[in-house]
Amino acid sequence: MPSQNRSGELVVRGVAASPGVSRGKIFVLTDEPPRIDQRGIDETEIESEIQRLEQALVETRIEVQNFQRRLAEGIGVKDAAIFEVHLLILEDPVLLNESSRRIREQGQNAGTAFGEVARQYTEMLGALDDPFFRERAADIRDVTQRVLHRLAGGPGPTRPPLLQEPVIIVSHDLTPSMTAQLDRRFVLGFATDVGSRTSHTAILAKSLGIPAIVGLHSISAQVANGQPALLDGHTGLIFINPTDQTLFEYGQLARRRVQIEERLAEIRDQPAVTLDGTRVVLSANIELAEDASSVREAGADGVGLFRTEYLFLQGKSLPDEEAQYAAYRMVAEACKPNAVIIRTLDIGGDKFSPHLQMPHEVNPSLGWRAIRFCLQEKDLFRTQLRAILRASAHGEVKLMYPMVSGVDELIQANALLAECRAELVRDGLPFNPEIEVGAMIEIPSAVLVARHLARHVQFFSIGTNDLIQYSLAIDRLNDRIAHLYEPTHPAVLQSIHLTVEAARSAGLWVGVCGEMASDPVLVPLLLGLGVNELSVAAAGVPRIKHVVRACRLDEAREFAHWALNQPSGAEVLSRAEAFAHRLTPDLFDPLSTPKPPPAPSA
Ligand code: PEP
Ligand code: MG
Repeated sequence: MPSQNRSGELVVRGVAASPGVSRGKIFVLTDEPPRIDQRGIDETEIESEIQRLEQALVETRIEVQNFQRRLAEGIGVKDAAIFEVHLLILEDPVLLNESSRRIREQGQNAGTAFGEVARQYTEMLGALDDPFFRERAADIRDVTQRVLHRLAGGPGPTRPPLLQEPVIIVSHDLTPSMTAQLDRRFVLGFATDVGSRTSHTAILAKSLGIPAIVGLHSISAQVANGQPALLDGHTGLIFINPTDQTLFEYGQLARRRVQIEERLAEIRDQPAVTLDGTRVVLSANIELAEDASSVREAGADGVGLFRTEYLFLQGKSLPDEEAQYAAYRMVAEACKPNAVIIRTLDIGGDKFSPHLQMPHEVNPSLGWRAIRFCLQEKDLFRTQLRAILRASAHGEVKLMYPMVSGVDELIQANALLAECRAELVRDGLPFNPEIEVGAMIEIPSAVLVARHLARHVQFFSIGTNDLIQYSLAIDRLNDRIAHLYEPTHPAVLQSIHLTVEAARSAGLWVGVCGEMASDPVLVPLLLGLGVNELSVAAAGVPRIKHVVRACRLDEAREFAHWALNQPSGAEVLSRAEAFAHRLTPDLFDPLSTPKPPPAPSA
């Protein structure tokens, strides 16, 4: 709930998505008018300009379909029908034909021609008395602006803004691709109206080490560019026009936090080993190849999850085999001799590449995603498998398939992998023939058939973000039901237990690479359940290492045994909190947590 005190300070509480405190000016990310250059064209450019326009129309259609998809996910867009109208407008032959005529006959470039036709069209409808047609004029303006942004190639709703100074970005929503494209030197923090802790934008912010708050409801409408703000990604509080008192209190907290960070830095080069001597592999999750350097700096044992789809979200085109090989090789070499688990493409869900034409689906999280997509788009999959195999010649690379729901998918994927191996042998390209292959366990059916899956892979990695979503039927992106997204739910704990049991019987190791592993409160529970590896955002590695090193495995096992027999997740959570507070009281020091927001003044 927002509250504004007499001094003009506005405090809004959302969902803490990425830890850290940042202070700076607000930059509201909204739709800016496109900048159209008026340059004329000569005859040789006519066909390419028409093609450019057609391409922009196709890309905008995909973009609008993505909005519709988000609507289906229920995160903020209210009216699906509007996008149907937008799609119809984009298909209207008058727009394309009249624009093409201007390009051919008047030597106008695509942006100028389309901009003028769109303006005439809008003005004509806007001048009518009927409110229905006036609304359609607004729709035309909206959707044609999107096309013009694409033609202008400048900042706009689908392009990152050109940031000139460090700012706190406030927006209604941020897509993973927009987040990935922002110039992170200038991003102090993110604050969005919608979203939840396990949305990919939140995960990406965490990986980038950028403080973030999501689910602030209407923050983007409440603030203006240039307003000073203080964003606390630990508690989910954002202060607009912070008072001197707030800044003073945060100054004190910051000093306290620095002391804790300094203490954590002392164990950076120590292994993640429990008090009773069990070595736990503590690795980092990364989204971009450039993040490999942060893995060693954080004191992690390599990479436990490389979300390769971000390579497909960035850049001007799909990455080919050479581009992927270069990225994977760079990470493998940077982490040597530690392992790097490269996950094959998990596109779909809430991640869509502008370069892949994927149809609109009502339930994208249950739809054409990850391994399902790859097994149908075989050429794309083969290209990635070859690139990963080739990178395995340069370090300890392991390969992992996402969203596996049953044995058949694994058999098909492994068959394609075998074909790629044979091709590489034939082409004389080196790779590690002993490369380990794993499956993500993130769908309830995979848990139930884990013992069968175990016969086709060398390890499991539990993706708790999706496992919780699918087990509890809680959309991980929907902030309205975020309170029901419960990692300690008995069904989730049983699923982890069953997976570990199946792996153990088959002699496999098991990791957890979902956000559950990065919560210090839940780490003793995961260790007690028998997990061998934890993979978390690089910035979270020192805290988790501190917890592991303070934990006795026998005590953790006893706690997990108790937890597995509880009917309620709430009770498990409260005991887990007490357990973790006892092990590492400094991580939960009340002095490092700010006061709750002030009550609204009368
Ligand atoms: C998960 O589902 O827990 C996971 C690690 O994969 P992603 O968050 O990329 O879906
Ligand atoms: Mg997942």
